[in-house]
Amino acid sequence: MKRFRIDLYSDTKSLPSLPMKQAMMDAEIGDEQHGEDPTVDRLCRQVADLLGKEAAVFLPSGTMANEIAVLVQCRPGDEILTHRDSHILNFEGGGPAALGGVMVRALDGARGMFDVSAVDGALRKPARHLPRSRLLVIEQTTNLGGGAVWPLDLIRAVTAKARDAGLAVHIDGARLMNACVASGVSAAEIAHTADTVSLDFSKGLGAPFGAVLAGDSATIAEAWRWKQRLGGSMRQAGLMAAGCMYGLDHNLPQLSEDHENARLLAEGLGGIAGVSVRPPETNMVFADLSETGITAAAFNQSLASIGARVSLQGDYIVRAVTHLGIDRRQIDEVIGAAQAIFGAEQSKE
Ligand SMILES: *Cc1c(COP(=O)(O)O)cnc(C)c1O
Repeated sequence: MKRFRIDLYSDTKSLPSLPMKQAMMDAEIGDEQHGEDPTVDRLCRQVADLLGKEAAVFLPSGTMANEIAVLVQCRPGDEILTHRDSHILNFEGGGPAALGGVMVRALDGARGMFDVSAVDGALRKPARHLPRSRLLVIEQTTNLGGGAVWPLDLIRAVTAKARDAGLAVHIDGARLMNACVASGVSAAEIAHTADTVSLDFSKGLGAPFGAVLAGDSATIAEAWRWKQRLGGSMRQAGLMAAGCMYGLDHNLPQLSEDHENARLLAEGLGGIAGVSVRPPETNMVFADLSETGITAAAFNQSLASIGARVSLQGDYIVRAVTHLGIDRRQIDEVIGAAQAIFGAEQSKE
């Protein structure tokens, strides 16, 4: 398997640092399935407090956190409202349908967000022959929406609309801390609008795995039952929880750096003729190469010569995600390589 020196494919490619690994080695551990792992308990307490929720449960992944959020809040035949491009709809193996018998209704809107009228238009009236609208899911930050940050006012407006109709709210906060760092809005203020919130440690926070789901005590007790059912109960998971805690305690300033690096990358790529770039709000840069005539795949192939890669989001669309494994110098290197790739191609014409 090829290793990339400058891996902009995703922030999931971030690797645990030496001090993070040391913290993991030093962790006090026990059997978390029996509630005997003090490090897992400490992480859950810390995250519940950060989010202003009563309780939290430690899980292997953000995907499992989202799926359990669905399972504890929906019954078979219920319907979720979420953005068309959301993770829960596109990248969880059809989990809501397969695990919960739950339908997903896709909402439209720019940059992975939607407004009150979109929610209003998708809500089902209570009637015998209609599925029951049950859960609104918001992604903060939006992934395919380009790492955009939902403004707090918009979250409040759409969640109020959903609540009025009797829906619960889940925030998929895989990159919630990126949103907090970028906007200055606290995690608790955002989480206050939701019944359940998930948070990922394996992305910008740099841990090798781990996520939490937070909510009120009764919901998290039920989430534990699903965690057990799905085989997500762990044993000496404090080893991993210690890495997650290290990420939360030490890597938040890194997120600002990631955002600055994304901004520089966007500026550099956007300066190339024919490359059109969305101004990034957090750590993701989406670039449209169609006017250059060079496909995303060809661009990536050329980048491989300097040991770099991005991810392909369409024939001519690439996504580059900054993270703690990427520094300023490497951003300059990628910009230089891109200038050469597109410049060379254009001079051939
Ligand atoms: C990555 C991601 C997840 C799930 O993360 P895993 O921990 O990889 O399962 C959920 N939602 C969004 C928006 C993501 O980007």
